[in-house]
Amino acid sequence: MVGKEPWYSHGVRFECQPDCGKCCDQPDGVVFLAPHDAKRLAKYHEMDVQDWLDRDCRRSQNGRYVLRSRPEDGVCIYLNDDKGCSVYGVKPDQCSAFPWWNENMASNRSWHKTVQLCPGLRQPDSKVVSLPMIQEHLDKDAVAEKGFRTWE
Ligand code: SF4
Ligand code: SF4
Repeated sequence: MVGKEPWYSHGVRFECQPDCGKCCDQPDGVVFLAPHDAKRLAKYHEMDVQDWLDRDCRRSQNGRYVLRSRPEDGVCIYLNDDKGCSVYGVKPDQCSAFPWWNENMASNRSWHKTVQLCPGLRQPDSKVVSLPMIQEHLDKDAVAEKGFRTWE
């Protein structure tokens, strides 16, 4: 039996906007990590993975590692004063995947909220991101969201 096509099967117009940073500048935003994200970011900081996890991560309510947030406002520790990402070249997959997160695309209501947040989704002349590309990001988001709780 062939499943119903997703609403985004013909692609979605999107172009990330320069100097925006709204998706990062979210108090209490949570970035889940895949194991390879932790390896990449620890290497970038020239640290042992466990030491980096202890320094720059915290635990979610159910024990998965997530990026640490600034205590004063709950925003990601890697967001700099210019609203840019200080680890842009090695940022976690889940950051690269935004706005193509499973939770964002799961319902009209959550997608509507995502469009309101992200000006890159409100550019009528922007290019169309294709279904395979969207699906690739959704798959990476799913791996990150599964996360991990221990490091060997
Ligand atoms: S909110 Fe959208 S446009 Fe702004 S930085 Fe994030 S992905 Fe780009
Ligand atoms: S790691 Fe970078 S891209 Fe990801 S939330 Fe933090 S500042 Fe934003």
